[in-house]
Amino acid sequence: MQLPPKLVSAVRGLRFRLTISYFAIFALLLIVIGLYFRANLKETLDYRMREIVEEEWAAVRGYLRIENGHAVWYFDPKDPEESSFVEKLRRIILVTDASGQVLEASNGYRALGLEERKILQSRFSMASASSREFVVRSNSKGDRVLVCAGVARQAKLQYYLAIGHSLADNALIPDRFTWDYFTAVPLMLILTGLIGWLIAGRALSPVNDVARAAQRMSGSNLSIRIPTRGSGDELDNLIETFNRMMDRLKVNFDQMRQFSTDASHELRTPLTAIRGQLEVALFTATTADEFKDAVVNSLQDVEQLSNIVRALLMLSHAETGQLVLQKSPMLLANVVEDIADQFQIPAEEAKVQLTVSADKEVIVAVDRVQIGRLISNLLSNAVKYTPPGGKIQTILRFSPNRQWAEFIVEDTGQGIAELHLPHIFERFYKVPDANPEKGLGLGLSFVAWIVKAHGGTIKVKSDFGVGTRFEVTLPIAIENPTAIVVEKKRVKTLKNHS
Ligand code: ADP
Repeated sequence: MQLPPKLVSAVRGLRFRLTISYFAIFALLLIVIGLYFRANLKETLDYRMREIVEEEWAAVRGYLRIENGHAVWYFDPKDPEESSFVEKLRRIILVTDASGQVLEASNGYRALGLEERKILQSRFSMASASSREFVVRSNSKGDRVLVCAGVARQAKLQYYLAIGHSLADNALIPDRFTWDYFTAVPLMLILTGLIGWLIAGRALSPVNDVARAAQRMSGSNLSIRIPTRGSGDELDNLIETFNRMMDRLKVNFDQMRQFSTDASHELRTPLTAIRGQLEVALFTATTADEFKDAVVNSLQDVEQLSNIVRALLMLSHAETGQLVLQKSPMLLANVVEDIADQFQIPAEEAKVQLTVSADKEVIVAVDRVQIGRLISNLLSNAVKYTPPGGKIQTILRFSPNRQWAEFIVEDTGQGIAELHLPHIFERFYKVPDANPEKGLGLGLSFVAWIVKAHGGTIKVKSDFGVGTRFEVTLPIAIENPTAIVVEKKRVKTLKNHS
């Protein structure tokens, strides 16, 4: 037989399992407590009964006299209380003399069976004849009787006295308790199950909220947040963690969305330009020179297109971890000077003075190609954004504690307004007032990635209209300086499109 799926999932659910656990634990507890109290009750009653029988045994000695080999009872027959008490004492009683001769034996005692004479005699010869013993005996009907027996003294005379008390009432009370208690247990368990079910439902409702929120979630609906209950418990913690995860996802999704919007926008501009130039050439150009001009212009735009695609590809490789750094310790001064050399001609063309001051002892474990890109990007920006007559200073030095290498590119260019400073490392971020033809807005985001991948930091300080200073720190390599790789290869720059 197949169970309905809803029932199956309810049975497998946490709520059901929690309720069953409550139920089982509570049932076990109730049973253990019930048994414990039953045993306790029995013990207390047994103890009380021993005391009563012992008191009765002692009381008999106040009313009984052995005279001339007979048991004689002394009491006031007119006193109803006293006579009924004595009658009660005589219900289950045995009195014998030292020879084991029965002086008095009630029917109640005879029903238990009289002891043999020899046994009775032996009681008198026992060392502590005054001690009393307690035994539980049963009659033919199965009624249990607690018997207190011992040797009693009357002046110089000794006699054997055994007195019994029915245990029927003693058994009745624990039986009654057991019956009452264990009939109430199922009711209590049903109640516990119901309460457990409700409590588990309440406790798990935030988990269901999280599940429902996760179901409602999609790429276009990432603003769902689950309100916390303010109790500061584990479930609130779960909700907060979930909400924080949603915040991070939203930021990432927004970045990705922004990235594809920016990328398509960037690609559309040169494509539109190419299309325009080719259409104009097609409809208006008549001479070979006019066609040639259109092709040359289009080629420049194609070049820009391929630069954008190359930069995008590289960034995406960097961010997906496909770009693996090949770090080796090297004298950074050589790399800095090498690249700065390449920028001397563009700097001269822009009528900007480019100076380099590099400490020859700075050794850093770097990826030669990527660190080359970093330097080129910073120098290329400095040249681009510094007007004629300006100065660019490139410095490589140790930090004061000699744990870090500091690489500084400082220019006396147009500067960056404070408003834009926090954004310049973002992808496609271009300062709006800056000449839109000057770049893609990707260079600094790539620089930031390279610095991060080398375990360094980058800071920027800029005064609008005065100049800009980029300060990169990279950890000093601790490897043996003899293993330094001094590369002299030319660096392919990311910025060679400009
Ligand atoms: P781009 O390739 O367009 O230069 P970047 O990511 O390298 O893009 O730079 C982002 C923005 O930061 C640029 O649009 C530019 O306005 C500004 N910028 C970067 N370096 C400098 C600098 N040295 N002086 C002034 N502005 C700068």
